[in-house]
Amino acid sequence: MVAGTGRVGEFGSTPQERRHGWLKNGNPPGDLSTVKRCGARTRRGSSCQCPAMRNGRCRLHGGLSTGPKTAAGIEAIRRARTKHGCYSKAAMLERRQGRVELRILRETLAYLAKTF
Ligand SMILES: [Zn+2]
Repeated sequence: MVAGTGRVGEFGSTPQERRHGWLKNGNPPGDLSTVKRCGARTRRGSSCQCPAMRNGRCRLHGGLSTGPKTAAGIEAIRRARTKHGCYSKAAMLERRQGRVELRILRETLAYLAKTF
C-alpha cells in the first residue's frame, strides 16, 4: 500500500473494482445510445425515446401489471384484498344454501299447516 494515494490494497480488491463494467443490479453493461427505444406516443405527438424494457416500452409506458401468475402470488393477493370474507366464494355459497333450506322449511311448514 502506498501512503497518500488513497488506494487500498491491490487493484480489484474492493467490491467496486471487482464489479467494474457491470451494473450493481446484475444487468449487462452496454451502450445506452444503441438500446431499443420506447415507441409510445407522447403528448407532443412524437415518440417517447426512453430506453425500452423487454416489452418494448419504457419504465413510464410499460402498461399496467398483468397480475399474479403463480398460485402463491394469487393467494397472496387474495389474502391482501380480503377484509372480512363476506364476499368469498365459500361464504356466498353457504348463504345461498341457507336460503334454499329456509325456503324448503317454509314450504314444509305451510304444507303441514294446510294438512293438519
Ligand atoms: Zn416511454
